[in-house]
Formats: sequence, C-alpha cells, structure tokens
Amino acid sequence: MTLYIQAIAIIYKIMNDGRPYSYVLERLKTARLRPTRQRLALAKLLLETDDRHVTAEQLHCEASSAGIKVSLATVYNTLHQFTKADLLREVVVESGRAYFDTNTSEHHHIFNQDTGELCDIPDETISVLVLPDAPEGTKIDRVEIIVRVKSLR
Ligand SMILES: [Zn+2]
Repeated sequence: MTLYIQAIAIIYKIMNDGRPYSYVLERLKTARLRPTRQRLALAKLLLETDDRHVTAEQLHCEASSAGIKVSLATVYNTLHQFTKADLLREVVVESGRAYFDTNTSEHHHIFNQDTGELCDIPDETISVLVLPDAPEGTKIDRVEIIVRVKSLR
C-alpha cells in the first residue's frame, strides 16, 4: 500500500515537473493576465523561488537553459507586463540597466557599480528621516533608495 502511494506520488511529481502550476496560475489570474504558455513558464521561473533581482538577459538565459523557447523581446515584454500588474517591481539602477525584483514590498537597495550586484538593504539598517512635501496636488507614493557602492582601490 505504501509502495502504491509512493508510486502515485512519483508519477504526480513527474507529470508536474516537480511543482504544480496552480500557484503561478493563481498569481496570473489575480493579476488579470491571460496565462499563455510563455507567461506561465516565465512566472514559474520567477515567482516560485525566494525573492531575487533579475535582468531580462539573465531570465532569458535561465529560460533557455530550462528548455523554454522564448525570445529576449518576449522576456522583456513579459517582465514589463508583470511589473504593470504588480507581480514584480522594476529597479532601474542606471540608464539602460534595470533589474526586476520579485519582492514588491517597499524596500531599498545597495548597487555595486563594479560587479553589477543588486542587494536588498535590511529595513532596520536604513531610515529616511526627512522627506520633502509632495508638490501641490500629489502625494508621496513610495520612497526607494539605491545606495551605490564601488570597490576600494
Ligand atoms: Zn529588492
């Protein structure tokens, strides 16, 4: 009996690539994005891991390694659609260089200009004491700080 259950579990695992699609399907549904094959595959790569920062090029590479046939342009479009739907947050570190953050809560970053590495700053290690008044007719939506570091030479 136990063996039978184990066999079923293994078959289920193989059929579902180890992880069911229900989680990413639900996320796309909530975001009102049609679950196309490519969106599902990219969402699975992005949203089923711990929080991280990826560039479109990195995700394109990961997709290719995972056997997902998708163009870099489609990866870009999908990342922007996910950002618009609040599934991701875009962190533009310099012109032409953006990271997509799977952690969509308000938080700050350290960007290493030499290595290109982007890390989260733990909440308790940074505080913003003074903010300007928002211009007439507006309110502050969020505050994002990027601390830029470079190697000591
Ligand atoms: Zn982050």
